[in-house]
Amino acid sequence: MSLPDPFQVQVHIIPFSNRPMAREPTIRGDDSDDGAHEPQPDQKAARSRESDDELRPSRLDDVIGQAAVVERIRILLQAAEKRGDPLGHLLMDGPPGLGKTTLAMVIPRELGTDFQITAGPSLSAPKDLLPYLTNASAGSVLFIDEIHRMPPAVEEFIYPAMEDFRVDITLGEGLNARTINMKLQPFTVIGATTRSGMLTAPLRDRFVSREHLSFYSQDELATIVRRSAARLNTEIAGDAAVEVALRSRGTPRKANNWLRWARDYADARADGVITLKVAQAALKMKGVDGIGLEEPDRRYLETIMTVFSGGPAGVQAIAHTMNLPADTLEDEIEPFLLREGLLQRTPRGRILTAKAYAHLGCTSPETLRGDHSQSED
Ligand code: ADP
Repeated sequence: MSLPDPFQVQVHIIPFSNRPMAREPTIRGDDSDDGAHEPQPDQKAARSRESDDELRPSRLDDVIGQAAVVERIRILLQAAEKRGDPLGHLLMDGPPGLGKTTLAMVIPRELGTDFQITAGPSLSAPKDLLPYLTNASAGSVLFIDEIHRMPPAVEEFIYPAMEDFRVDITLGEGLNARTINMKLQPFTVIGATTRSGMLTAPLRDRFVSREHLSFYSQDELATIVRRSAARLNTEIAGDAAVEVALRSRGTPRKANNWLRWARDYADARADGVITLKVAQAALKMKGVDGIGLEEPDRRYLETIMTVFSGGPAGVQAIAHTMNLPADTLEDEIEPFLLREGLLQRTPRGRILTAKAYAHLGCTSPETLRGDHSQSED
């Protein structure tokens, strides 16, 4: 079977100072992009990954927050190193930008092993996965982002690879078909998903450990902002770092993006220092409100309030009304609104809370009913 073109894995060998040689992962799409075409989703993902990489913690000690998850990973690493076994397969779930890729990249660095990276949507057939499996060296890590988007045929192909470190390849067709078993090196799959509920039970069961990443506290995000500012050689006032953290929806990727924007704003409109005033002006210009909601978040709340009378409303109906994919609502908009108590998810659909009405500057129907009944008493 041949390597899938154009998605070829490239691995460059880079030395780590205090570890044996390990490899730096790169994910490659079609290099022939001459700017004449719109980037494909995979290319966009690769580019956003590159900008994330600049600020990614490289060791477990540098990872801020997620203390319980980090501690459990530390135990898994120590046990695997002591026994000389590969790490058990690990599944990480949580909303985008919370550090799934970061943790997946830190693990092989800590182990001093090789690392390959791919994503569910890039694996359209078993032949796309095969080179990753055959390239996997003993103890190495294969990271599969958005693993819930792997097609069923690829999923079935990966089962024996994860369980028995072998692949079954069928050659020929009909009566002449033969199945060849190919032995693989013992390796570790780290899967990341924003939707653990969409994973099939057999795939979920093949992961020995599962970790859920949750939103970060304001203090943790402020620390991330200060650390990222230092890496970007940018001066930021303490209260400005807290302000950026406050408006980052509990998400390190957002915090880093707002920091970069505040830096640009400070360079263009001020003397390059991010003061509280500069941070506030920069975020206001981006339409970020006091609790970090952006225009699509507010539009989502307003749609339920005005079109669906506050709910309950089905996610598909809201998505159609907003002209956005339901996936985007479920992955990127709803988790933070749910955590903040602005939204309720019920079997009948999504419902706005009184807090959401207050945030939009309106009075909720319950409050109105309450006021009314009080005035009747
Ligand atoms: P995910 O894979 O969950 O979408 P990433 O791991 O790509 O998220 O993280 C996005 C960005 O957030 C990274 O560039 C990284 O710099 C930053 N980040 C994530 N988690 C942490 C953390 N625990 N400490 C510091 N920075 C983090």
